[in-house]
Amino acid sequence: MAAPAPRVRSRCAAPGAEVVVVGGGVIGLSAAWWLLRNGIKVIVLEAGAIGSEASGRNGGGSAAFHSPLFPEAEALWPQMDELLGYPTEFRPGRLKIIRTEAQLSALKSSIDAAQHVGCSVEQLDARQVAELVPLAGADALGGVYFHGGGHMNPLRTLQAYAWAVEDLGGRILQRTGATGFRVRSGRIVEVETACGSFACDAVVLAAGPNVGSLAAQLDEIVPVASARAEMVLTEPLPPMPFTNVDGNGIYGRQTLRGNLAYGGGPHEWLASAPAAGLPKSGSPLIRSIAKRVAELLPLASHARVIRSWAGFIECTPDGRPIIDRLASIDNAVVATMSSVGFGLSPAAGRAIMELLRDGRCDFADLGSFSLSRFADLGGDWREERGWVAATPPRTIYELNV
Ligand SMILES: Cc1cc2nc3c(=O)[nH]c(=O)nc-3n(C[C@H](O)[C@H](O)[C@H](O)COP(=O)(O)OP(=O)(O)OC[C@H]3O[C@@H](n4cnc5c(N)ncnc54)[C@H](O)[C@@H]3O)c2cc1C
Repeated sequence: MAAPAPRVRSRCAAPGAEVVVVGGGVIGLSAAWWLLRNGIKVIVLEAGAIGSEASGRNGGGSAAFHSPLFPEAEALWPQMDELLGYPTEFRPGRLKIIRTEAQLSALKSSIDAAQHVGCSVEQLDARQVAELVPLAGADALGGVYFHGGGHMNPLRTLQAYAWAVEDLGGRILQRTGATGFRVRSGRIVEVETACGSFACDAVVLAAGPNVGSLAAQLDEIVPVASARAEMVLTEPLPPMPFTNVDGNGIYGRQTLRGNLAYGGGPHEWLASAPAAGLPKSGSPLIRSIAKRVAELLPLASHARVIRSWAGFIECTPDGRPIIDRLASIDNAVVATMSSVGFGLSPAAGRAIMELLRDGRCDFADLGSFSLSRFADLGGDWREERGWVAATPPRTIYELNV
């Protein structure tokens, strides 16, 4: 079968770029970097500051073993400091501490998913856990060590992507939000902003929870809801031999300086209005996460929480990413990662680049990321699932099936 025609054509007229990327989060920046590495000129339009939304506020973890993008992300992370030219603070592996038999059996699907993609998994006894993670003390039942996934520093990683984009000649325009599109013959020819319009041959919509409203301007439905998640940071503690420590319903890492940075799982996410304004932390979730850090790492229970923050997570109806071309617009790719975008970002950016350049992704099957899977979704899907802002806020877990 003949290869589909390239989606990116020759250089566009100035001012503009061959590709305009809307959104300067980790996905937009990774896509921009991959496009530039392949000789395609890019402008990134960012409504606020790069990484000012979820990409700069997340836990920095990679553990989406079940994702078709995971093997590529897993191969890329150890090389990213060298490829980008700047540090991400990548540290490989994840350790889940087990304190009850129920916690061990709840891990079965993660263990299966990790082993399915070739990551070995080791059971550790209490002594091995205490050696690797002294703050856990000696009374854990044991641990499960995943030789896969890892943790990065989100802020340094965002900065690394952004500097790497600029090093390759890409332009990043902050405080320059896309406000609309000029479409001619089924193609976006200009992206409009309050600072003027940018001509383009192709567009990447990587605006996190805002991709839905941007796509709506193009008469396309991209179903994304937004949920608020929170994290805590403790004062610095003595550095541990192993830093990527999960369990007790929370996940996180010890930073280079020694702080413990922790967040909760989907059961902690709060149904939220679409991202507008600054997400605030300070809910009872902060106390709950801090309490569970103390249970996970009892020898850290004296540590004070010195900072907390919140961010808006993009959530698709089935919890899987969307990376696809828009059906009615010939030259636009939409990418929204449904909560696992940071860890998958090196692979997601490459997938977006290949979709734009070649019309298909060669290294991973993106079939499960297609927009067409939502063809029968009603317009009121958020209400049907109860994913609407509530006062006082309820967790999506309480609201969801
Ligand atoms: C507290 C928290 C913890 C998390 N932990 C993890 C984790 O450990 N591992 C993991 O993989 N993922 C994690 N996530 C999810 C992860 O952060 C996201 O999946 C990822 O950052 C999404 O990246 P993005 O670039 O698609 O979106 P965003 O980070 O939301 O970036 C989109 C950008 O687009 C901009 N924008 C919006 N509208 C416009 C417009 N009209 N014009 C121009 N720009 C626009 C926004 O300002 C924003 O900067 C977490 C998220 C949160 C909030």
